[in-house]
Order: sequence, then structure tokens, then C-alpha cells
Amino acid sequence: SEKGDWIFVKENEKNYNIEHFVIPEHYEGDVSNVLIPHGLILDRIEKLARQILSQYTDRLVVCCVLKGGHQFFADLVGFLKKYTTKEGKHLPIALDFIRVKSYENDTSSGSVHISMSEKELKALKGRDVLIVEDIIDTGRTMVALLDHLKKYELKSIKVASLFVKRTHLSNGFTPEYVGFSVPDVFIVGYCLDYNDYFRDLDHVCSISPAGQKKYFS
Ligand code: 5GP
Repeated sequence: SEKGDWIFVKENEKNYNIEHFVIPEHYEGDVSNVLIPHGLILDRIEKLARQILSQYTDRLVVCCVLKGGHQFFADLVGFLKKYTTKEGKHLPIALDFIRVKSYENDTSSGSVHISMSEKELKALKGRDVLIVEDIIDTGRTMVALLDHLKKYELKSIKVASLFVKRTHLSNGFTPEYVGFSVPDVFIVGYCLDYNDYFRDLDHVCSISPAGQKKYFS
């Protein structure tokens, strides 16, 4: 996809006042502003689902990268199932799950630990696979994952990421489907976490200093 096709969330913009939205009581004071409201995220995913649907014909394996990609995956699959064109086009989909842990202190290779058995990986041979991830930051995790999948002879492999961060640390990796281009700040909500907190917050927000302190571990 072209960068111009993504929704651009501006730098240093306060976007939405926290007072204008419903925030779970247990997170009151822990987030400083709403960067992307939940409704906008869903609207954007509906469009991505239509684009994906128009570009595949054969059975598609949609593969969720856990845990962060779960909410995007769930909503995307929901739209993929719901959406049928006037021509009656629909797409049979299979669901798969993968847990990827990047080793941050592994300096050179950017290697990742992938929690899919050899048997499961071999079953992907000859299939169209769409990897669903929450956010691309440096791109190291995704490049390592794609590298690992190479040897299993998939028919095709593409990546859908809800967010891509604008950072000078990027390795240049660009997913085929992107929801939003976001500034270089740490975001939480919509399944993106800070030490496993904030996954249960629907809007994408930035953490307040109080929240950072409270959930620091
Ligand atoms: P990368 O390998 O692209 O640098 O990092 C990708 C992973 O880092 C994502 O899957 C996500 O788990 C985590 N990550 C990167 N930026 C953020 C962020 O702003 N917020 C949260 N919650 N996680 C992030």
C-alpha cells in the first residue's frame, strides 16, 4: 500500500480530550488523551476488510499475532465474514494464531521466538496467508517472522498492521495493509498494552505520567 492511503495521525496533536469519551473507571487518570477513538478504528478496519476481500479469491489463512493483534484480528475477521459484494463475492477463511516474542537483547539478528509447531507451519504450504499484527515499530519482529516463514513454501504472504509508527529506527518494512500512521509515542488500548495493562481499553490513547508510574514493572 502507499503511505498516502493510510490515515495520518499527526505529531504533537492532543487530538481528543479524555473528558469527551468514556474511559473505564480503573484507568481514569492513567491516560492523558485519546489519539484514535474506537469508532474510527472500526470504520477503518471495515475499509481494510473490503480491500483485502477484493484482492483474494482462494481460501485465505488469516493469522493473528498474539497478544496485541487479537482485537484487530477479531474485528477484521468479523468484517471479512459480514461483507459480501453485490456480485455475491465472499471469501472462505481459515484462522490461525501465532505468538511471537522478540528477543530485545539479541543484538545482531533480531531473532524472534515463534510459538507455532513444525507441523502447523508445514500445513501452511501452498496457502495464501495474511499475517495480522497490531503495530510495526522498528519492523524487526515482522521481518524476522517473515524470514522464518520463508522456508515453508507458502503460496503468498502479506501483512496487515493496524498501526505503523513513524520512527527513525524503522528498518523500512512496509505492510501491504495499514490502518494508521502514528507518531513516535507509546500508545495503549485496543489490545495494545503497557505491561499487560490497557488491553481492555477500547480507544487508542497515550499514557499519562501517573499511569506510567502506576504500571511500571
Ligand atoms: P518492532 O519489532 O516492530 O520494533 O516491534 C513490534 C512490537 O513492539 C509490537 O508488536 C508491539 O508489541 C510492540 N510495540 C511497539 N510500539 C508499541 C507501542 O507504541 N505501544 C505498545 N503497546 N506496543 C508497542
